[in-house]
Amino acid sequence: MGVVFTGNSINPSHPQVLNKIMLQIIYKISLALPLLFIFGLAFIAFQPGWVIKMLANHSQDVLYSVDTQRPVVALTIDDGPDPVTTPKILDTLKEHNAHATFFMIGNRITGNEAIVDKAVAENHEVANHMMNDEASINLPPAEFEQRLLASDETLSKFARPKWFRPGSGWYNRQMLSTLSRHGYKAALGSVYPYDPHIPSSWFAAQSILWNVKPGSVIILHDTGNRGERTLATLQTILPKLAQQGFQVVTLSELSEMQEIAAN
Ligand SMILES: [Zn+2]
Repeated sequence: MGVVFTGNSINPSHPQVLNKIMLQIIYKISLALPLLFIFGLAFIAFQPGWVIKMLANHSQDVLYSVDTQRPVVALTIDDGPDPVTTPKILDTLKEHNAHATFFMIGNRITGNEAIVDKAVAENHEVANHMMNDEASINLPPAEFEQRLLASDETLSKFARPKWFRPGSGWYNRQMLSTLSRHGYKAALGSVYPYDPHIPSSWFAAQSILWNVKPGSVIILHDTGNRGERTLATLQTILPKLAQQGFQVVTLSELSEMQEIAAN
């Protein structure tokens, strides 16, 4: 950048010189961006186990994954039900003898009752993802509790939910204590292909297959285009997981294995 200050006549405080300096800085950042992007993608694709472990150690009350040697993984699908994509996802799960925990949005239940009934009848698990898909960490504690119970009431007509997943994945101590007071456990996951942000079912499938191991909790999303991508992702990963000897189960089924392993 020293090039800018060659002539005596040029005053560095002159707007044009500042513009030049700014342009050079922007140019250098733009060169670094593709590199940052590649590192970011690599990080997402090969989710480092130590980051997940660090997060998990910080919050014993939140389930990220389960310690087990058995080739079993939990599949969790957020943001349904959807009248178009959820039935297709249910058919694919049935075809591959896989089970999932559906973190459902309370406000999406009306009109989709038959789909929720079908999910329960086919031994999938219904779980609480609030009335709306929002970052519930921003809610005042009383409001959080009220909305948790509203979605609990809606979902309990189908099956008693046991798991809660906060929108955007953010939670605090207060939320965890409210959850446990109402018999809930919080669950995040350990294999997340950032499927809402990266619109490629190929990438989601590869990322899951690269990172999955016994006890993993996989996160995918339902509804609209995301639901269609999840369908394509499942059609790729379910046969491959079966080939590798993995059984795909609900969160509750997987968490029971932790208890067996701990005893
Ligand atoms: Zn969500």
